[in-house]
Amino acid sequence: MTEITCKLLVIGAGPGGYVCAIRAGQLGIDTVVVESGPLGGSCLNVGCIPSKAMIHVAEEFERATHAAAGRMPFGLTAGPPALDFPKAVEWKDGIVGRLTNGVAALLRRAKVKIVHGRARFRDGRTVEVETETGPQVIRAETIVIATGSAPVELPFLPFGGSVISSTGALALPAVPARLAVVGGGYIGLELGTAFAKLGAKVTIVEAQDRILPLYDAELTGPVAKRLGELGVEVLLGAKARGATPDGQGLRVETREGEDRRIDADRILVTVGRAPVTGDLGLDELVLDMNGRYIRVGDRCETSMRGIYAIGDVTGEPMLAHRAMAQGEMVAEIVAGRPRAWDKSCIPAICFTDPEIVSAGLSPDEAKAAGFETKVGKFPFTANGRAMTLDSEEGFVRIVARAETGIVLGVQAVGRNVSELSAAFGLAIEMGAHLEDVAGTIHAHPTLGEGFQEAALKALGHAIHV
Ligand code: FAD
Ligand code: NAD
Repeated sequence: MTEITCKLLVIGAGPGGYVCAIRAGQLGIDTVVVESGPLGGSCLNVGCIPSKAMIHVAEEFERATHAAAGRMPFGLTAGPPALDFPKAVEWKDGIVGRLTNGVAALLRRAKVKIVHGRARFRDGRTVEVETETGPQVIRAETIVIATGSAPVELPFLPFGGSVISSTGALALPAVPARLAVVGGGYIGLELGTAFAKLGAKVTIVEAQDRILPLYDAELTGPVAKRLGELGVEVLLGAKARGATPDGQGLRVETREGEDRRIDADRILVTVGRAPVTGDLGLDELVLDMNGRYIRVGDRCETSMRGIYAIGDVTGEPMLAHRAMAQGEMVAEIVAGRPRAWDKSCIPAICFTDPEIVSAGLSPDEAKAAGFETKVGKFPFTANGRAMTLDSEEGFVRIVARAETGIVLGVQAVGRNVSELSAAFGLAIEMGAHLEDVAGTIHAHPTLGEGFQEAALKALGHAIHV
């Protein structure tokens, strides 16, 4: 059995692990990263990137379908579009390949050693990796657990056959004619909307009484409306009960307590993700847990000295940019720099139609936290750029402390608002006041002017509404 000794060992090369390893390498730390699958983790291979690629394909296809139906208000018409689905999948896979190769190159440039195989703890300083060429022992002064998450399986709807997870949905050979989606959260809505635009008859079954329960109803309203326009049926307060015996449908208990059958060629189960800790050998350690997740402090330290945990394995919010920020911070801590988690917000985006962005506190969250607030909301119906994009649905909403005007949160729903998340996050992180946002010249015509106008509205003197 061969042995490697290093200063830092990172287990998992998803956004948390690879960023941690690259930053550590840049800081001159002798670093090894172990990965049992492809570099880039869930995000690059089966998550953020491939899903957004397919969402883009679906948007383009739907626009072309619209043009073919003569429904473009500006007079564009075209013949009926045809989609070569395998070609779309190949394009998506090409993007994934470019990015994962990029991660490999960045790790190499930072002089990080990559070991391919599954890691298992022997003790708090030693890990054994099953590699293709046999077992490899790695001893490290510091170990970072970045093993991420995997789709939750429902016991009465196990994955296999027609029952698929997001990973399966992103690797389908063709668009299913009928798709039942269990779970109206992030993945269910992003992928459900995309498949509806690609021509599937989509039914979404959500246990709560509204879609995307993480966001407030004002933000999700335009998404619910659009799902209706796309012909997506949404069953709220409904519980999936299992597949029908013929394998061609889903049994559902409706809010009214009735049994209902939903005909489906595929059943996509998206009811959350669970941390990957199963065969990591955590029983060899004495780690405090937070339910199923590894408990960490504000430096991402676990209850064992020299062991850190980052990313999805540490719990919500399970977002790639949170994992990356934790990874970068931990690398600096290992290098001896004085760092701790001091972020004011972790922006979240749902890539639905229209998109939703939330940074910081919503009006209700701010109130619940004891703040007196001022709220300003600016509709895209009054924004020139939104009109020129033929996308006037949605708004920007800003929440500030009544007393000081310090911005506590910014939310938006609308076409392409994901790109506004940087401005929202920056304002909150910099401790901006309403006057700072209102006093910044926002280029015209842009959706970003909605941000400035929302701040002006909260100050009581919006110009364009
Ligand atoms: P992961 O990316 O899960 O990486 C963990 C890595 O560890 C994996 O590569 C795994 O193979 C490896 N590993 C596990 N155990 C071992 C072991 N014992 N030995 C060696 N290696 C091991 N987030 C966003 O912010 N924006 C989005 O738009 C977005 N879209 C998503 C869409 C979908 C369909 C899905 C499924 C997720 C999406 N996410 C999105 C969530 C995002 O993918 C995760 O938050 C992110 O990947 C977490 O990063 P991580 O490094 O913690 O874990
Ligand atoms: P989720 O937590 O977003 O949504 C799960 C939904 O399933 C919830 O609305 C829940 O009420 C519902 N549900 C749970 N059990 C159910 C049942 N038995 N029947 C019907 N509905 C049920 O989970 P997800 O969509 O699987 O996504 C997992 C995670 O991945 C997210 O929490 C997020 O962190 C991450 N993600 C992020 C993005 C993004 O940032 N754009 C995109 C996709 C995924």
